[in-house]
Amino acid sequence: MTRLIILTFFFIHLLTYGQTDWKGNTTPTYGELITYLQKLDRENQEISLYNMGASDHGQPIYLCVVNGDKDSTKTFLKARNSTTILINNAIHPGEPDGVNACLIWIENWIKDGKPTSSKNGKSLPLIAIIPAYNVGGMHNRSSTSRANQNGPEEYGFRGSAKNLDLNRDFTKLDAENTKTFVKIYQTLDPDIFIDNHVSNGADYPYTLTYISSNKARLSPTMKELTYSSCIPFLEETCLGGFELFPYVELKGKTPEEGIIAFNDLPRYAMGYASLFNSLSFTVETHMLKAFPQRVQATLQFMESTIAYAIENASTIEKARKEAKKWDEEQTFFKYNFKLQNNSTDSIFFKGYTPIYPIHPITGLAQLEYDQNQPFQKYIPYFNQYYPSDSIKIPTYYIIGGQEKRILELLKINGVHYQVIDSFYHQKVTCTYVKDFKAPARPYEGHFKLSSIELEQIDKSVQIKPGDVLIPSKQERAMYIHSVLQAGAEDSYLTWNFFDSYLQQKEYFSSYVFKESLGKILEANPELNKQYEQKKSEDPTFANSEWDQLFFIYQRSPYFEQTFMQLPIYMLY
Ligand SMILES: [Zn+2]
Repeated sequence: MTRLIILTFFFIHLLTYGQTDWKGNTTPTYGELITYLQKLDRENQEISLYNMGASDHGQPIYLCVVNGDKDSTKTFLKARNSTTILINNAIHPGEPDGVNACLIWIENWIKDGKPTSSKNGKSLPLIAIIPAYNVGGMHNRSSTSRANQNGPEEYGFRGSAKNLDLNRDFTKLDAENTKTFVKIYQTLDPDIFIDNHVSNGADYPYTLTYISSNKARLSPTMKELTYSSCIPFLEETCLGGFELFPYVELKGKTPEEGIIAFNDLPRYAMGYASLFNSLSFTVETHMLKAFPQRVQATLQFMESTIAYAIENASTIEKARKEAKKWDEEQTFFKYNFKLQNNSTDSIFFKGYTPIYPIHPITGLAQLEYDQNQPFQKYIPYFNQYYPSDSIKIPTYYIIGGQEKRILELLKINGVHYQVIDSFYHQKVTCTYVKDFKAPARPYEGHFKLSSIELEQIDKSVQIKPGDVLIPSKQERAMYIHSVLQAGAEDSYLTWNFFDSYLQQKEYFSSYVFKESLGKILEANPELNKQYEQKKSEDPTFANSEWDQLFFIYQRSPYFEQTFMQLPIYMLY
């Protein structure tokens, strides 16, 4: 009878909480994960699970806070005023290593008696975990969508409920998930941010690689903190569990041809976090290593990062404070970072020899990595980027009040601005789009613009009530420039926020307009000269009435003055 009761209890427990062994080859469903964290929340005063807002899927996104304060208000205040680590899991739910690693970390912490300080008396940071961010992808489970991955048995899908890759959404914010993330991020202002993933690509012995912020874009103090303080600490403390190595992005077909430092653009979670001077990492475990081994490595990285935060709280705080000041004081904004192809840096790499056996079915030689032929040697490391463009930073930006969506996004990102309440004329610098390219197929829900050519023209424009005035001198300056500077890699212009401004609205009827030609050319001798010159040099032009009329129309007062003019003005 007792056995029956125990067994019944065991099955009820399983039904309620599902799996509770996070060290095997399985990962919880979203329901199991949240139910389990709710149980931990109920049983432990020091652990809180907050519903942080919507996802596209409909189910909320949660935040699990360890070592917070009495209630949510006090907890979020503590986050902003003390050292905070934010960990994001399952932005790609097919890569759930962080989900399990965080559960193991929390359970170990409870087992250890929930210590809030280290042995030498230093405080545990506030640890905030997004248990699973891509809620829609978590609900779309299979065993097959990660074709080359070694476990777990079943996992979620990369695409969100709207089939977006959420790790490209951090400046365009198409997904409700991203708006919720921004709310979480801006509420916590985390000192350290970790985004957990699993890599694809070449085979090599490393279980875990990491992406750190692009050196060229970092402020001096964050560069020093990341590369001279934090990474050496992590390398030392991870050793024993596994050997830490930078993310392997190939320059050519195999690692021997060299690897590239990843360019963490603002569209990515860690690129977004870098703009606000979080010490940011993307963790990439290796797809061919067994799931439990990957989870252990992710856990080790997390433990090492927490240990770093405990030991270096004041250093981190000082570096971030100075970086925020540095951002405010910049006079030029640098962008369009390109890889320095002639970089001669090298890095000691442990790899497997690439071989090219003939495949019995295709009959073609195909690349494989032979694990029986490991090698160790220096390989080229392309880790230097340079900005290919820069622009003088204006004192203020003015944005047309009609751009409601942009104003909403700036607001949730914590950007300070002032709403204008009257009509007046103001001399400003306008940005005109001279040319751009758009792809034939969409990328992440957009026909993202590229090869953008811009022209800045000073002129007087009418400012109206509802337009907003944004000072550049504020903590979130790098975010502001990254989205408002039209030429920048992930600007609002590139993500199609201003497509309606790129179309001519008025035209002319040739048979009427041709009557005005004489008067226009007479009034403008310079235009007359250009017109005659073009006619003499260009036979096609000389034989096309429409081309000639449009040439003159475009340069006449009849042509719309706002064609290709963006609703962002700059004040110097
Ligand atoms: Zn990923």
